[in-house]
Amino acid sequence: MLIVMRPDATPQDIEQVNAEIRRRGWQPHAIPGGTRTAIGITGNRGVVEPEPFRVLPGVADAVLISQPFKLVSREVKPEDSKFQAGPLTLGGKTIHVIAGPSSVETRDQIVGTANGVKKAGATLLRGGAFKPHLSPYEFQGLKHDGLALLAEARRETGMPIVTEVKDTATLLQVAEVADVLLLGSRNMQNYALLEAVGEVRKPVILKRGISATLKEVLMAAEYIVARGNTRVILCERGIRTFETMTPNTLDLNAVPMLKSLSHLPVFVDPSHGIGMRKAVPALMRAAVAAGADGLLVQVHPDPPRAISDGHQTLDFPEFEKAMDEVRAIAGAIGRDVA
Ligand code: PEP
Repeated sequence: MLIVMRPDATPQDIEQVNAEIRRRGWQPHAIPGGTRTAIGITGNRGVVEPEPFRVLPGVADAVLISQPFKLVSREVKPEDSKFQAGPLTLGGKTIHVIAGPSSVETRDQIVGTANGVKKAGATLLRGGAFKPHLSPYEFQGLKHDGLALLAEARRETGMPIVTEVKDTATLLQVAEVADVLLLGSRNMQNYALLEAVGEVRKPVILKRGISATLKEVLMAAEYIVARGNTRVILCERGIRTFETMTPNTLDLNAVPMLKSLSHLPVFVDPSHGIGMRKAVPALMRAAVAAGADGLLVQVHPDPPRAISDGHQTLDFPEFEKAMDEVRAIAGAIGRDVA
């Protein structure tokens, strides 16, 4: 159920609706819009009767939400969400590119990469410090030392930091350093982590699980937003299909579908999306053409020597060229790259 307030509704009118929702043991979620506020309801087990709300002062209408995801849905908020991540605004007409290595390895590597990708036009730096890998024998990241190196790269370049949070035990330590949290594909349905991230006031990139449907992605985002963290970015990163020539198949259907169903920004990770270095620039261009609000790209000063994901990581000249092409595509569809 969504309570739509009239444009002239007062703060007292809104509070009265909130109180009425709480009185029934449910939770109100104010969703401010361009011209009016809407209030979503969660926590109800059965159908919410609209009439008791329609008669309250300041209420324009009480409407049923047809989708199982509510707070992230366009039915609740028709206009695109935009929000701050450090000094940047994500989710608007301007496309942001997040770039950096899979793993933070050394000071020279991460600071050097930050300078390299910034020069090419990336606005946020990515780098994994806590790395949940398929095999327990693979590199698991520099952990706290990696976070400290990311903070140093931010001091040197001013770039906001995007880094993965792998579990609830380390969430607060990661959130202390990160400007944007990355919730990886393996954790997309880790409900304890989704709820905990929902309590943290940092933007979060929610990556699609390799076998997750778009509805499951949206339901996972709902877990975060229902806890009060509304700054969620959905990220398509490739799914598992019958194709064996590429590790993953980038599902570009996800971009227009997620954008039509949800007001949240949609980013694309073309590096994991195809898992093949030489094909990454083509998918960067395709993602922007499909309407992505941002990209997440793996870049390293020397990909063949990267500790992880070198096979899908661009070097600086490749990234610079791909960024020029992405700018041209963005311009052709009336958008720009920060
Ligand atoms: C990553 O982006 O560092 C990562 C591990 O991605 P994914 O969770 O999509 O595999």
